[in-house]
Amino acid sequence: MADKLRIGDAGQKGKGVFAAERLLPGELVVDYAGEEKWIWDIPKEAWQYAFQVDYDRYVLPPQGSFGWYLNHSCAPNCVIMGRTRIVALRTIEKGEEVTFDYSTNVGWDGFAMDCRCGSPNCRHVIRSYRYLDRGLKGNYGACVSRFLLEKSAG
Ligand SMILES: [Zn+2]
Repeated sequence: MADKLRIGDAGQKGKGVFAAERLLPGELVVDYAGEEKWIWDIPKEAWQYAFQVDYDRYVLPPQGSFGWYLNHSCAPNCVIMGRTRIVALRTIEKGEEVTFDYSTNVGWDGFAMDCRCGSPNCRHVIRSYRYLDRGLKGNYGACVSRFLLEKSAG
């Protein structure tokens, strides 16, 4: 999977992950599988790079890895499958930035992050899953972190 991706300049967002070749729908892009920790066991300055896998569990990807640099977009070309896998939602052409929607991964209510993704449907502030509108939740369906679905089933 490593040679399918490269790290590059994503403008205002800093560095990002780009397709080094065409990626097909459903193709595995990044797997965040790793040691799952309490948030308090992760240095605060690294929180923005942590991937949430459960209400109290996070995986910190290796510094400088694709998982570390994978950016958010309000119009993402990848989605979450299962606990830790990020897969292509559609065909992603060589050179395109690879992104997913951070709101499909975040269960912490206090989360708020300015968005500069530049997509026409940009939400400007990225918040936790529960604040996504019903339409977006419907579009993502089960392609969000599993713990979020279990919690919001009622
Ligand atoms: Zn946005």
